[in-house]
Order: sequence, then C-alpha cells, then structure tokens
Amino acid sequence: EAKAKGRNTFHFYSQELDAAANERLYIENELRQAIKEGQFSLRYQPQIDSTTEQVVGYEALVRWYHPEKGFIAPTKFIPIAEATGMIVELGAWVLREACQFSARLRRSGRAADISVNLSARQFKDVELIEHIATTLKETGLSPQMLHLELTESMLMGDVEAAIEQLLEMKKLGVSLSIDDFGTGYSSLSYLKRFPVDVLKVDRSFVKDIPEDSNDMEITAAIIAMAQKLSMKVIAEGVETEEQVAFLQRNNCFIVQGYYYSAPLTEHEILLQSQHPDIGQAK
Ligand code: C2E
Ligand code: MG
Ligand code: MG
Ligand code: MG
Repeated sequence: EAKAKGRNTFHFYSQELDAAANERLYIENELRQAIKEGQFSLRYQPQIDSTTEQVVGYEALVRWYHPEKGFIAPTKFIPIAEATGMIVELGAWVLREACQFSARLRRSGRAADISVNLSARQFKDVELIEHIATTLKETGLSPQMLHLELTESMLMGDVEAAIEQLLEMKKLGVSLSIDDFGTGYSSLSYLKRFPVDVLKVDRSFVKDIPEDSNDMEITAAIIAMAQKLSMKVIAEGVETEEQVAFLQRNNCFIVQGYYYSAPLTEHEILLQSQHPDIGQAK
C-alpha cells in the first residue's frame, strides 16, 4: 500500500509527518473536550492613543490553558478549530464574553471599544448576522463599541458575497477592521469597495522599524492610503518608543503592542484603572 511504501522510502520524513498529524489529531480531540469544559479565557490588549496615552479600546485574544499541556497558543489551535468547524462554537463564546466585558467596563465608567477576531468560517456562516444581533441585544453592548476584525484572505474569494456580508454587518451598527493588513493578497481596487472602517497594519511591517527602511516606506504608504480611503489606522506589535515616534510622524496615532501593554486579564485592567501607573511598560 502506498502509505507503507512511503514509510519505508522516506522514513524520517514520514515520522515527522506522523508526529505533526498526531499532534493535530490530539489537539482536535482535546479541543472538543475544552469547549465542553470551558477551558478558555480571554485576554484584552489595550489600544492606545499615543498622543494622550489613553486606552481607546481593547482587542480580545483567546487563551487555552490545557489541564495537562498548559498554554497552547492560538496560532496552534485556531487553524484546527477553523478546519473542524469548532471555531463557530468557540467564536460565539469569545464574542459573548468580549461583549460582556466591554459592557461591564462601560457600567463601571471606563467605557472602551472592544475588538473581536472573526475567522473565515464564522464570516461565511449564514447565521452570523443574527448571532451578532442577538449577542449585542443580550449583553446590552452598544453596536458602535464593537469592532469585528477580518483578514484580507476572507474577503478576496467571492468578493461580491463578501461585500454583501460586510454591508449586513454594517447595518447592525458595528465597526469593521481589516487585521494583519498587508500580509494577505488584496486588490486595492476592491479595498475601496469594502465598507471597512479600520486598517490594522501588520506587526511584520512594524517590528523592524527603524532598522528596515523598506518596512518604513510600506508602513507610511499603508497609513497614507488608509487616510485617502477615510479609514482609521491601528499599528500592531508596537514595541519601542522609536516606533511610536515614527508612526506619529506618519499620522498613525492609535497603537497596540508590548510597548504600552501585553494582553491583560480583566482583573489586571480593573486594578490598573484604579492605579493608572501600575503595569505601564515604560
Ligand atoms: P492578531 O489578531 O493579529 O493578534 C495580535 C497578536 O499579536 C496576538 O497574539 C498578540 O498577543 C500579539 N502581540 C500584540 N502585541 C505584540 C507585540 O508588541 N509584540 C509581539 N511579538 N506580539 C504582539 P496571540 O494572542 O497569540 O494571537 C495570535 C492570533 O490568533 C491573532 O492574531 C488572531 O489571528 C488569532 N486569534 C486570537 N484570538 C482569537 C479569537 O478569539 N478568534 C479568532 N478567530 N482568532 C483569534
Ligand atoms: Mg486581531
Ligand atoms: Mg492582527
Ligand atoms: Mg498580526
């Protein structure tokens, strides 16, 4: 049989494949259990207006602490959750939890927007619009405080269908962002047709500023283009003061990254706003 033959011919290669396949299978099985048992939690990374150093929003990021394996990174399990469809249930949980968090912050007088990552599977789900509407209603969050993050690749397949879905989302009153902008293939002629409010400049362009002059050119160009299209810009993965200064000189004032803060628990955020000097990166 082909598989057995391959195993003899490419022994080591095949062993590696088996290990990868086993890990995938393991995560897949454990994910099912994790969803049932609620092993997930959220962290919230502040989005800062660098001119005032005020928090203007938070991005919700899912965390999985497995009872035996410990921390498993979202980059490892989100693609598997996506491929198996489990992301729909997990994503629904994330959305509700994030909306409740933002609604709680608002009630405590610390109103801030909340951004939630959507996966391709969720975006294509015929029940997405109704689901968002229900979640907003049940959590009492004002739609304009919710930002949904999509990626270019999710929009570029069936462009007309994507635009239609985006318009339906906009009708709910929520704000839309393109995440990791510049890493996917997207046609600039389509970009202006997408009813999107925010472009998030991917960390890969920001991380080597100021050493890499190409990255500086690209980042400046993305910011200028967003402004021409009347979109807001958020820079991701900002880690240094030089990066903040460069972004400011190029008219990007909202930033997210370790320079200001790593993703935090709700508890840390509540403590921080009682003592604003605690937990600052600088
Ligand atoms: P993303 O949406 O682009 O999120 C930003 C990622 O960059 C987060 O990684 C965040 O912790 C990390 N980050 C933020 N600031 C810095 C920095 O200054 N330096 C560095 N090196 N990294 C920084 P995380 O939490 O591991 O998430 C990775 C990706 O997993 C996310 O990328 C997003 O695509 C996906 N993801 C996370 N949570 C969810 C979720 O609830 N649903 C979906 N569908 N995807 C999620
Ligand atoms: Mg994101
Ligand atoms: Mg991103
Ligand atoms: Mg990114």
